[in-house]
Amino acid sequence: MSTIIMNGKKTAQDIKDELKAEVALLKEKSIEPTLAVVLVGENQASQVYVKNKKRACEYIGIRSLSYELDCTTSEEELLKLIHDLNSRSDVHGILVQLPLPKQINEGNILLAIDPSKDVDGFHPINVGNLSVGREGFVSCTPAGIIELMKRYSIPMEGKKCVVIGRSNIVGKPISMLLLRENATVTICHSRTKDLALECQGADILIAAIGKANFVSKDFVKKGAVIVDVGINRLENGKLCGDVAYDECFDLASAITPVPGGVGPMTIAMLMKNCVLAATK
Ligand code: NAD
Repeated sequence: MSTIIMNGKKTAQDIKDELKAEVALLKEKSIEPTLAVVLVGENQASQVYVKNKKRACEYIGIRSLSYELDCTTSEEELLKLIHDLNSRSDVHGILVQLPLPKQINEGNILLAIDPSKDVDGFHPINVGNLSVGREGFVSCTPAGIIELMKRYSIPMEGKKCVVIGRSNIVGKPISMLLLRENATVTICHSRTKDLALECQGADILIAAIGKANFVSKDFVKKGAVIVDVGINRLENGKLCGDVAYDECFDLASAITPVPGGVGPMTIAMLMKNCVLAATK
């Protein structure tokens, strides 16, 4: 059995090319999809993420408006900016890069974004829509995982899926999406007893933990599909996932690499949400 490497970088490029064509059609109808990107402070990782998002916008033809605010910005000032962006008809999507400085309550900010412009899919209305199966924005990393598996024809219906991690941005929404695909879903987390045993039963194993090489071959059933969401930086500066890739590779029927797996899909799905917001 040879293992399929699910190439997120290439798949994301395909999606971006499809979106580029869609945006060209929108522009013929005088609609210019526009994303407002808000960054507060000087978190280095955030700066890189924002740069990559803006670069993707440029490639596709989405106009990006950049708001880079000082790390001392107050919650009121940020709320005022969001209200302004909410009311602008030429702004279709609003993205506030997380994390925010500690004087700002993230929950209040996410709540303030108009749900119809919430291209990150973090507003409780969009989270609720996802859980009751209504239309709405789905957060980008989980949406990217499903899209990647679909484009690699990975069957999900009836499969036993184990998700490690229960965060609001990955673990919970990917579990809801897998359920929507008719999978049987188990959510594991830091208090799960005998995690390896839970994972050994998985046809599809999704790791979203944030611990380098945490998932060893002892977690993996032969033939399992492995999706590695983790992005961890090692002391030598290299990026690695939550899955010990080399030792799990031969056991897996399909696996995502880090980097070049889920990461690029996240940005592609953000772009997809922006185009969707402009289309609506
Ligand atoms: P988080 O810290 O919010 O959540 C981590 C989850 O892992 C928690 O629910 C926790 O219960 C669980 N966990 C921690 N230790 C555990 C253990 N020993 N056993 C079992 N479960 C354990 O993190 P997050 O925001 O969900 O992100 C997870 C990882 O995914 C991080 O590495 C992050 O950088 C990465 N990430 C990648 C993308 C992407 O685009 N590829 C997007 C978001 C997050």
